[in-house]
Amino acid sequence: MTDHDEKTVSLERGVERPRGTDVADDREALLVRGPAHARAPRPLAGTLHGDRGHPALGSVPRGVLREEAVARLRPRGHLGKAGAPRDDQHHGDRRGASGSPCALRSPKKAGTLRSVTREAVREGIGVWRPAPGHLPPNAWFGVPTRRGGVSRGPYASLNLGQAAGDDPGHVLRNRTRMFQALGIPEQGPVRVRQVHGTRIVTPAESPAEALAEADGILVRAGDPWVAVSVADCAPVALVARDGSHAALLHSGWRATRGKIAGAGVRMLAERGIRASEIAASIGPCIHACCYLVGPEVAREFSKELLKPHPGGVALDLPLAIARALEEAGVDVSAITVAPECTSCTGSAFYSHRRDRGVTGRHWALVHLARSSEST
Ligand SMILES: [Zn+2]
Ligand SMILES: [Zn+2]
Repeated sequence: MTDHDEKTVSLERGVERPRGTDVADDREALLVRGPAHARAPRPLAGTLHGDRGHPALGSVPRGVLREEAVARLRPRGHLGKAGAPRDDQHHGDRRGASGSPCALRSPKKAGTLRSVTREAVREGIGVWRPAPGHLPPNAWFGVPTRRGGVSRGPYASLNLGQAAGDDPGHVLRNRTRMFQALGIPEQGPVRVRQVHGTRIVTPAESPAEALAEADGILVRAGDPWVAVSVADCAPVALVARDGSHAALLHSGWRATRGKIAGAGVRMLAERGIRASEIAASIGPCIHACCYLVGPEVAREFSKELLKPHPGGVALDLPLAIARALEEAGVDVSAITVAPECTSCTGSAFYSHRRDRGVTGRHWALVHLARSSEST
């Protein structure tokens, strides 16, 4: 959609936070106000690449919409500088950052913000995807941006979350639009009831009429599409290099602390996938530039994962997930991190933190085509 989304979001601040089950798990670490730089999204310029392999991706025209580069995780010690965390944090005094704390981010690039099918281009739906070639060719992992939907105000425009306070009819239309754009069957992806835990289930364990309480879904090639809902929490895909299995995770700070990423690696191991055979992609989430946390959160993480911030100390959520993956045996060179901070990129992403809870939800989606479908 358009840049007016950002303005609309800004104007809507101060609205009461709606009730809903699908909120980010940062309630113990809330900012009173988002940093000023969060309202100035970086320009999205660019091109569109075709993908090969997954059947949803075959017919992408080039040169349309936007692309934004993504960071590949550097080896330990190279992804930003860990500063001494401050321990004099107060809940009531969390002013926004000045300047551009986004400089903390790794500069290395590996991924894109783009649309993936003719339908998506026509509808104006943009989709963040990992860099081409990072995941096996039959694997689809992506996060549709907020563009291309019918929701208004703070939910503009492709809000997919029904529990966020948006018009339910708009959400249903957005979902239908997105399903059509990506070639997802009408009944939609398999989902779970997200509880900020570390449980990972199979699609069969989470039927639509009785969603499992879980924060991850493990699929085999040929399984239905699966989705998790995010707005600042990290969507993470762990994909076997042979394309046979994958796990999609919802990793906010609680699930990250609980090492859901390691749980995903173990579940894949139970299916015969060694950690060294896993490619991991950490999608757009809130970064240390905007993720000011209180002491009750900071104490749960090692110093390396805490970054100095003008307002106190911030959690480097994607780095925390990457380190958990490394601990579980995933090669650091097989882990990529999207550089987009959801809170900093308001033109593309909802941010629970930036918008103080009054915002939409993205769905991160995974599908593994059967190998016969991928050629
Ligand atoms: Zn979340
Ligand atoms: Zn940020």
